[in-house]
Amino acid sequence: MKPFTYESPPTVDQALPLLRQGGWRGQETDNAARPLAGGTDLLTLMKADITAPARLVNVKRLDGLSAGISAEAGGLSLGALTTLAEIETSPLIQQPYAALAEAAAVAATPQLRNMATIGGNLLQRPRCWYFRNPHLACWLKGGDDCPAHDGENQLHALFGDSPCDAVHPSDLASVVHALEAEVHLRSAAGERTLPIGEFFAQPTNDRRTETTVRADELVLAVRLPPQPQGTRSIYLKAMDRKIWAFALVGVAAVLRVEGGRIAAARVTLSGVANVPWRAEAAERELLGATPSGALFASAAEAALHSAAPLAHNGYKVPLAKSLVRSALAALANGAPEVPIQSSGESG
Ligand SMILES: Cc1cc2nc3c(=O)[nH]c(=O)nc-3n(C[C@H](O)[C@H](O)[C@H](O)COP(=O)(O)OP(=O)(O)OC[C@H]3O[C@@H](n4cnc5c(N)ncnc54)[C@H](O)[C@@H]3O)c2cc1C
Ligand code: SF4
Repeated sequence: MKPFTYESPPTVDQALPLLRQGGWRGQETDNAARPLAGGTDLLTLMKADITAPARLVNVKRLDGLSAGISAEAGGLSLGALTTLAEIETSPLIQQPYAALAEAAAVAATPQLRNMATIGGNLLQRPRCWYFRNPHLACWLKGGDDCPAHDGENQLHALFGDSPCDAVHPSDLASVVHALEAEVHLRSAAGERTLPIGEFFAQPTNDRRTETTVRADELVLAVRLPPQPQGTRSIYLKAMDRKIWAFALVGVAAVLRVEGGRIAAARVTLSGVANVPWRAEAAERELLGATPSGALFASAAEAALHSAAPLAHNGYKVPLAKSLVRSALAALANGAPEVPIQSSGESG
């Protein structure tokens, strides 16, 4: 591991100037400063010399960076330091947001969930084995080519037009995407709020990372907007073992049925692209229709219609279809929703 300095400022205002101005968070060889939250991804990358920041800025003790969940303006606000364990167990996370607790509960291990924060979870880097191998070059790390494209791509993407075929490893990312979250950011230059669809962006030659967050910005909070009465959400995940595994494929679905017809539907897939992948064709199929097994099967077909499997990941197509069908059926047939009860903070 390369030498670095470590700073633990007391406030957000003091932390922001310590983060390097300009650039993008994915420039892994640029000696930038990096915020350190739970460290469960960043420290692993540093130990393998895949990222080598010149300065680590501890954000865990910052006055002004919250670790709590609060009911706010009819929705929920999750401070960037909220751990996955808090999300899994908070009484505030009920329907219509239940999918978020479900995703947290199947992520990583209990020990990791106690350390891992929502901010770090959305900004974690891909688990592609070429990317994580310090001895191999690859496009995402600044090289010319993607060795996975014609190589070992069992766990790689079905969708997208980036030179990188890795998949986004977060389970929670798909859920906040389907719930149409906003991410609140702050830098020394000011604050901005990004719709989740603009927070995540496929890597390009000019920005080899999965988000549009700048290197000098801190994520302050993730805000989940209010959902109309009767909205329900679910997260289903296929893994190659029952625990401590990233999603082969995951499905976050949000559904509202009114008067026997589907009034709102959002379906976002994980494990299939280097960003959470919204299945808009499936949503179009569902909107206004009467829920049925046949409708859900046809929505699942639509969701995967434009999938372009690589040599070794074709199994993900039927797996994803099956998860989409199951998620929609569970939402249409499931238990009645439980409203948010309190406006206090948890965690
Ligand atoms: C063995 C293992 C299994 C895992 N399994 C899963 C899984 O199944 N599903 C899943 O979703 N995840 C999984 N993870 C990933 C884990 O959830 C993430 O590593 C964790 O959520 C990252 O959060 P952190 O607080 O530790 O972030 P860190 O490691 O501290 O930071 C990660 C990145 O985010 C940046 N960052 C952190 N906080 C902020 C902030 N507030 N503002 C700006 N930048 C910030 C850091 O600079 C860094 O670039 C697994 C991890 C491991 C090690
Ligand atoms: S899929 Fe992306 S991370 Fe993996 S080798 Fe290719 S460019 Fe690198």
